[in-house]
Amino acid sequence: MNTHCLFCKIIAGEIPVDKLYEDDDVLAFRDIAPQAPVHFLVIPKKHIAGPAFLEAEDEQLVGRMMRTGARLAADLGLVDGFRLVFNNGEGAGQTVFHIHLHILGGRQFHWPPG
Ligand code: 5GP
Ligand code: ZN
Repeated sequence: MNTHCLFCKIIAGEIPVDKLYEDDDVLAFRDIAPQAPVHFLVIPKKHIAGPAFLEAEDEQLVGRMMRTGARLAADLGLVDGFRLVFNNGEGAGQTVFHIHLHILGGRQFHWPPG
């Protein structure tokens, strides 16, 4: 728990979210400013500042995040496809420095991303 971290506060229940899934290791909730008809985040309960701060011991946890996101995408009916995004660093648009996986779906996506 990082007391200055927004997502740690969400994990602690101090800030309400539209929760989709929770277990001992991860939490999934809808993004407050959705960029697609479906847009949710999967975060680990362990505070990790971003992808660049992952350690070897976190490899299984990242797999859990990916599988949770894919399962929820299916549950939410995203049969045509969905976009998974990790932003790392301010230059890539990271604004919350607690690692999070964005899952977006329900519209057509383009490549390269903006
Ligand atoms: P980043 O820009 O760091 O990759 O993504 C952070 C995401 O967190 C943004 O999409 C933003 O809308 C979302 N977010 C920021 N604060 C809150 C909040 O208090 N509640 C929820 N549900 N999402 C948030
Ligand atoms: Zn945190």
